[in-house]
Amino acid sequence: MALDFILRHARIGAHEPEIVDIGVADGRIVEIAARIDVDAPGEDLDGRLVVAGLVETHIHLDKSCILDRCHSREGTLAEAIAAVAAAKRAFTEADIYERARRTLEKAILQGTMRMRTHVEVDPRVGLRGFHAIRRLKRDYAWAIDLEICVFPQEGMLNDPGTEELLIEACEQGADLIGGCPYTDSDPHGHIARIFEIAQKFDYDIDFHLDFDLDASRMNLEGVCRTTDEFGWGGRVAVGHVTKLSALESVKFAAMAKRLADTGVAVTVLPATDLFLMGREHDHNVPRGVTPAHRLLACGVTCSIASNNILNPFTPFGDCSLLRMANLYANIAQIGRPAELQSCLDMITVLPAKLMNLRDYGIAVGNPADFVVLDCMDRTAAVAEIARPLFGMKNGRRTFVCPPPKLLYEAGSGPR
Ligand SMILES: [Zn+2]
Repeated sequence: MALDFILRHARIGAHEPEIVDIGVADGRIVEIAARIDVDAPGEDLDGRLVVAGLVETHIHLDKSCILDRCHSREGTLAEAIAAVAAAKRAFTEADIYERARRTLEKAILQGTMRMRTHVEVDPRVGLRGFHAIRRLKRDYAWAIDLEICVFPQEGMLNDPGTEELLIEACEQGADLIGGCPYTDSDPHGHIARIFEIAQKFDYDIDFHLDFDLDASRMNLEGVCRTTDEFGWGGRVAVGHVTKLSALESVKFAAMAKRLADTGVAVTVLPATDLFLMGREHDHNVPRGVTPAHRLLACGVTCSIASNNILNPFTPFGDCSLLRMANLYANIAQIGRPAELQSCLDMITVLPAKLMNLRDYGIAVGNPADFVVLDCMDRTAAVAEIARPLFGMKNGRRTFVCPPPKLLYEAGSGPR
């Protein structure tokens, strides 16, 4: 068979054999073998780790890079929502596109190849964010599969006109719908209405949920119950759920079982949760990040994601999912190889499962999507925040980041 490209001596993790040649033709993976004896252009990876692209399930491209127009004093969630609400009145489609483009390009250079971005829709910003991101999705389809989740950040039932705009975005090609019950005056009604809209359009759902540390009142059980009622198991994700980090272990285990049984997935957002949670404490500040690895052990599908980049919710961000996985591992106090490897899973195969991606993974027949990491195993990828060296999407190179080079003084090299 004629091949367009061969990745040689690629390490593909938990597979057997671990180091393989991968043959590409017409943008797809057509062969994986210990050795492919065919003449074709290629690259020898010397055993470096290859993943099928990093997968981001939760990021806000539309409100990224606005620190220069927002002022934060308290660093609370309420302040962040208010600051962005004020700033977004002045957002234009061109402005949203330009900021989102910068953030998306950073993510591509960090090895992200599949992404779900949450886009705010309400009467203040209208559909400007949705239209900008829809254009971005088309313009960057050569490098990344972008999925648009429209959602009402400032509530829906309390905000006349929002629901109509959400439905308009769905009719114009949004990929799924999100909800934000904690900003709604009627959280239960909000959840029910989002499910009804999702059912009408046959959409998956991704909620912002339970975003504080008061575990005495949670909407998570309500989401699970409604998921069962609608038969939507496997199609619902919830982001943040920081309240779970405040649950004592018996209740936590019961909720984990409920999530696994119902088929509700969880995304943890370490950078934002660490920045915003526990502001009422002046010492021994609770970290407020839900222990995803413990949910994972109970059978819950979990992902680690970036959420916000350079805005009042999170004034940080280089769009590196490997940095997020490392940050999570560090604050969750996990360091054993198997646990670190599960953190890599939470930015690759598990978010792909959360997003119901049918063609993700290094397997014959799938798109030739690869990111080569400058490390020799899955543990090091997370422990060392391995550099992505190059990416290939549908058989075409999308970025290169050659490794840095130390310039030794004459005669001073390694001995
Ligand atoms: Zn979010």
